[in-house]
Amino acid sequence: MSSATEYVLEPERHVPVRAEYEVVVLGGGPAGIAAAAAAAGHGRKTLLVERYGFLGGMGTAAGVTNFCGLYANVHGEIRQVVHGIADELLARIDRLGGLNTPHLVFGKTKAQAYDTPAYKCAADDLLLAKGSEVLFHALGVGVLMDRDAITALLVETKSGRCALLGRIFIDCSGDADLAAWAGAPFELGDGIGNMLYPTTMFRVNGVDPAAAGEAWKLIPNLMEDAERRGERFPRKGAIVRPQKNPVEWRVNVTQIKTRNGKAIDGTDAGELSTGEIEGRRQALAFFEFLRRAAPGFGDAYIVDIPPQIGIRETRRITGRYQLTGADVTACASFPDSIGVNGWPIENHVAGDVLWQWPPIPQSRGFNHLPYRMLLPVGVRNLLVAGRCASMTHDGQSAARVSGGCFVMGQAAGTAAHLALASGRDVAEIAVHHLQAILEQDGAYLGHDPA
Ligand SMILES: Cc1cc2nc3c(=O)[nH]c(=O)nc-3n(C[C@H](O)[C@H](O)[C@H](O)COP(=O)(O)OP(=O)(O)OC[C@H]3O[C@@H](n4cnc5c(N)ncnc54)[C@H](O)[C@@H]3O)c2cc1C
Repeated sequence: MSSATEYVLEPERHVPVRAEYEVVVLGGGPAGIAAAAAAAGHGRKTLLVERYGFLGGMGTAAGVTNFCGLYANVHGEIRQVVHGIADELLARIDRLGGLNTPHLVFGKTKAQAYDTPAYKCAADDLLLAKGSEVLFHALGVGVLMDRDAITALLVETKSGRCALLGRIFIDCSGDADLAAWAGAPFELGDGIGNMLYPTTMFRVNGVDPAAAGEAWKLIPNLMEDAERRGERFPRKGAIVRPQKNPVEWRVNVTQIKTRNGKAIDGTDAGELSTGEIEGRRQALAFFEFLRRAAPGFGDAYIVDIPPQIGIRETRRITGRYQLTGADVTACASFPDSIGVNGWPIENHVAGDVLWQWPPIPQSRGFNHLPYRMLLPVGVRNLLVAGRCASMTHDGQSAARVSGGCFVMGQAAGTAAHLALASGRDVAEIAVHHLQAILEQDGAYLGHDPA
């Protein structure tokens, strides 16, 4: 092939149909787990398609190991505000001994660390118990359409390419892959090319907990001192916190840029490749600093650099409603609430992380998530849940964390069930009916005190 060749023509071929489902979910992160659990739990023949051999999305594949967004600061009191399927998953992780006690974040809210293997096994168990099928090691690569409806998801697997027929599709890919293939409108970043910066997470083991103490408070100060002496870090501050076993700590500090200083684009194969290498380089460099400077870390070692770079933001659909940053800070209410987001705006900008909170203790500390943010424009049998749902860059900087993704996923799976039961398009279902079922299933919609 000459270097001037830009395209090759793939010969037409017959693609075997693997199976037919009522609901097909693409992606097994928090949104996909909750979507498949909800649809299958309501008796729908459901398949979840995941490119890795385990569930959890960024929470496992990118080593996040910590749930944010389950809690909100409600008039000065920190309360759990995300329930329903999230509770069922948390209980399973806890039964496996993999759930840490919730810890304070800036004294304003709480987050909860977990062990990756326990999350993976608990999510398997949840989906099996609900009756959902799972197809692992299957990369979604395209869709077939009949006018404005998706008829099949095309996947590449070790047994070859195949088609998965479905009646309702739920895009929980995090990157809005399915929505983009189906032609639904979307945005990338803040409109001028800036996405939240990605991070390669890592975990260290062999920490001396007594010597380390509350090192998470000290480490940012140690970094500032080192910077005054000329040392450089990828961003200001670091999140270095213990896991359930206090000899193991997670480290969230790297920040992966292109040569021109922009966040690398998680939908660009070339940038992802250079980003993985740069992320591991930064992880090693910071680990060397930790061992040298942080008390209790002298004999520590890196126990895990996860399978992939942590991607916070790529495509977000521009659906029937876009959740905004102002909705988050003003604790907005919506008549079509499907649950709540209590996490503040956490904006990963070049060299820093900027936080914006709703007023504490004056506000109720959470915003409603409207059903319309799951509805893409122009595709009538598609729902989009999780970090690629319809939000502005600022809105996504808050509601993208696990708590909000569980809420959106559960609502999307339940809405798929209702659309099938009523024979309506997903945008035409009776929202009060959806809300009633979500509440029966334990979800909190933010209509009365949590
Ligand atoms: C470094 C980092 C730190 C974070 N820290 C926290 C934190 O402390 N707490 C918190 O709650 N949140 C945190 N977040 C955010 C949170 O992890 C994510 O926003 C959340 O996981 C998004 O969930 P999701 O289900 O929308 O998508 P994802 O978690 O991205 O899951 C998408 C899934 O779809 C699969 N997939 C994608 N495309 C395809 C395809 N074409 N075919 C097949 N499968 C596909 C992926 O493999 C993945 O499993 C962090 C994120 C990052 C990157």
